[in-house]
Parts: sequence; C-alpha cells; structure tokens
Amino acid sequence: MSGFPYSDDNKRYYTYAYFLKHRKGGRVVRVPLDGGFTCPNRDGKLGIGGCAFCSGRGSGDQIAALPSLEEQYRAGIEKVQGKWKDARYQPYFQAFSGTYAPIETLREQYDRALALPDAAGLVIGTRADCIDERTADLLEEYAEKTDLTVELGLQTVHDRTLQAMNRCETFDQFCKGYERLKKRGICTWVHLINGLPGESLDDMRESAHVLGHMYPDGVKIHALHVLKGTRLAQMDFPLLTREEYVAVTCDQLERLPMTTVIGRLTGDGPAQDVLGPEWTKRKRDVLNAIDQELARRDSWQGKKFD
Ligand code: SF4
Repeated sequence: MSGFPYSDDNKRYYTYAYFLKHRKGGRVVRVPLDGGFTCPNRDGKLGIGGCAFCSGRGSGDQIAALPSLEEQYRAGIEKVQGKWKDARYQPYFQAFSGTYAPIETLREQYDRALALPDAAGLVIGTRADCIDERTADLLEEYAEKTDLTVELGLQTVHDRTLQAMNRCETFDQFCKGYERLKKRGICTWVHLINGLPGESLDDMRESAHVLGHMYPDGVKIHALHVLKGTRLAQMDFPLLTREEYVAVTCDQLERLPMTTVIGRLTGDGPAQDVLGPEWTKRKRDVLNAIDQELARRDSWQGKKFD
C-alpha cells in the first residue's frame, strides 16, 4: 500500500480504475465511436490538414471502420468482452470534435448513443473552442440526465507550441470553452502530450502546473508518438526517451491536485502506425516505471501542488 489516499494498492496517483470502483460502483468500459463529426482545424473554418500529430481519422484510429454507431459499438464491445466480469459500457465520441456540428445534429447523435444497448452514460471528446454558450447549455442538459464526461484536447499551455503544431487554438481560447463547462458543473477531463517539438521538460512541468490550478476532473497524459502519414512524420526533432517521459510525468503528477482522476498515462495509437518512439508500445513497462519512480522519490500525485 502506498499511503496515497485514493489507492488500494501500490499506485501513488488517482487511477481511473480506483475512481470507477469507488465512485461508479464498478468497471465501466468506454467504447470509442466515430459520430461522423469533423473538426474546424480540418474543414477550413480554422485550418486545414489538422494538428501535426493527428492521424487522418482524428484520433479515432481504434474505432472499427463501420458505417453506423450501432455497428461500431457492437464491434467495440466484442473486442473487450470477457475481459472483465460485469463491465458496463459507455459510448465515447472519440473521433474528431464531438461538439462541432449544429445543435440539432449533436442532439440527434447524443440521443442515438444513449439509446445503444446498456449505454451507461456518454463521453464526448472535442476541442474547447467548439464549445460556445449554446453548446455548453446542451451539454448541461445531458449532464443532468446521464453520466456525462467531456474530454478536451489541450496538449500544452504554450501558444508557441500550439502554433507550431498547427493547432489553430490558443491557450486563452481553450480556457474560455473549459470555463463554460466548469461553470455548469460538467465533468471535464483534459489531455496533455509530453514531448511536443520544441518543448523543454520545464515547459511540460509548467503545463501540468497551470492545468492543475484549473482543477480538471480528470487528466490524460501520453508521450507524443509519431504516426504514419501525419505532418509530424515529416518533421525532424528529438523524441523523448522513456526515462525522460517517466521522470517528467512523475513531476507532472506531483503538480496536479490529488483529487484529479488520472485517466491514462500512456498513448493508444495503433502499434502498426506508430513510427516512434518504440518504447511507447510497451505500455505496461512505462506504467511500472512510473510506479517505481514515484516510490523511489517517496512521492505521490499532488505532493508539489500548491
Ligand atoms: S483538433 Fe483534434 S481532431 Fe482536429 S486536427 Fe487536431 S487532434 Fe485532430
């Protein structure tokens, strides 16, 4: 036992598994879906070509290439069925920007997702600049009737990196959308990427420090991996070593509030498309190394949060 208050084992951070067990009454598996959304950074509204690290499927690479939500959902469940007893399933609009469509379309898609067999809530991945007041009102409505989580890609708080990655969104714009959700009490998770070109370890620590003080309900962190066919694959820059990633991720955990759920500390790009770093494919090793590093430091999530 680590002594960290939100842990039943050796974990020194607030894992999603612990959260599910103690707050949701058991395992809930997110089933990634492609709701046919696009992204303002792809359709020309803000940019074209998308973020330098984004694959052609808008982060939906793990989703079965099937036309309907129902088929994708069934295929997603089949993949994990039998892995956990009594698991419940949560439709997760993962591909592209799940709030980027007219309100009527959003409502239609969210209702379809909630009508999927045994759907236990809803997760929507999107960009913060795709959340205006009307969209936030709609999300509030869904949060009142179901277990809703909205996941926002931030990746870094540094505008120069966001610009270099063709993100077409500033940190300030992110904050506006984020605040609209938080003000309405909507469960909001935020994604960070470590190892973006041009970022120092200090920059990554700062991203966690700044984000921590915004009290996200959950955070997902992963190492930048270079996927085939992305703009990133054409760029020349040093990749993070596993040792650097482990150390900086522990630094970040120390700077996040204890009460923020850590949804993930490894990436989930399809192994056959990951050009590097190679070590990101061995997720278990990375997670073990993070546990060992926190133990070596006698540290835990939130130790340096002030
Ligand atoms: S905002 Fe998301 S979906 Fe759009 S290009 Fe960037 S990573 Fe891809």
